[in-house]
Amino acid sequence: MMALDTGRAPSPIEAQLRELREWMTTIGKPALEIRLCAPRGFCAGVDRAIQIVLMALKKYGAPVYVRHEIVHNRYVVKGLESRGAVFIEDLAEIPAEHRAQPVIFSAHGVPRSVPVEADARKLFYLDATCPLVSKVHKQALRHLRAGRHVVLVGHAGHPEVIGTMGQLPYGSVSLVETVADAQAYAPQDPEALGFVTQTTLSLEDAAGVLDALKRRFPAIAAPAAESICYATTNRQEAVRQAAPGCDLFVVVGAPNSSNSRRLVEVAERSGAARAVLVQRAAEIDWDMAEGCSVVGLSAGASAPEILVDEIIGAFSERFCVALEIAETTVEEENFPVMRALRGTELAPSDLAFLHGQA
Ligand code: SF4
Repeated sequence: MMALDTGRAPSPIEAQLRELREWMTTIGKPALEIRLCAPRGFCAGVDRAIQIVLMALKKYGAPVYVRHEIVHNRYVVKGLESRGAVFIEDLAEIPAEHRAQPVIFSAHGVPRSVPVEADARKLFYLDATCPLVSKVHKQALRHLRAGRHVVLVGHAGHPEVIGTMGQLPYGSVSLVETVADAQAYAPQDPEALGFVTQTTLSLEDAAGVLDALKRRFPAIAAPAAESICYATTNRQEAVRQAAPGCDLFVVVGAPNSSNSRRLVEVAERSGAARAVLVQRAAEIDWDMAEGCSVVGLSAGASAPEILVDEIIGAFSERFCVALEIAETTVEEENFPVMRALRGTELAPSDLAFLHGQA
């Protein structure tokens, strides 16, 4: 059951909204309940990756190069760019005179060829791969060492999938995306298979694909630990509980953020009349919001809370908003940064851009 957290003291934003609602009622704005999912937004892996970039900027000075978007969110990327991070897709883009500056690998992980290339180019790199993605890499390698062909359940082209496939020698891993793929899959040795999954899949979709694989290949070995991460599981569960009865469900996240897109699907499947992915309040289609009385709200693991506040603010300009916190669990995960950066202290001003301050 969804726990609507109504028995505690209101937070400052809730108190402000209550006052605003009372005032708006007097001027005839329509009432709206926003069900705000908790947990939502930043996970421990994203938090760690952003800290790594900020700490590297502090310790080594600008520029700090980052291979691929450190996390899939333009607001975060732009904020880091304004502090001296330079985002690149190819290590060859780093000018020779900046080789001593660090290059950071994104939270999604990279193929083994990337650190090898960095070494060959004599670059100094810091790997911000989320520890839970690294764990999937290790599980895949464990299958390989046990003589199994690896089946990776995930989405083609996603950087995490490219990174996981790139841990293994060519030909030793197959990507399966859908139930239809699992039904058509023809391995060389059906008795020597092991699977892992992308960390950000829909739990429901992954279960369907894995059921199909297990039905066809009963000997397929599972990884020692669940590959879909705690943050994906918790955000999807919170949306699943909050979605029934919502006229509209808004997920804050980027179109290339896999976990955010999955939240939209979960909301639609769990009873929201419709669900949309938006990056900023400016993307909300207000015609769609007209006539709504209950709106669900969540954010993908790479979306900062400031963007959630912005969405609530935009709804509050048009509706008398009552905010209900739909909390399903409390997260306490925290991943430490690598040894090279330990002891580099971040001041509140370093993180201010994530709270909307310059
Ligand atoms: Fe790590 Fe999960 Fe966050 Fe991805 S979504 S960075 S795997 S905690």
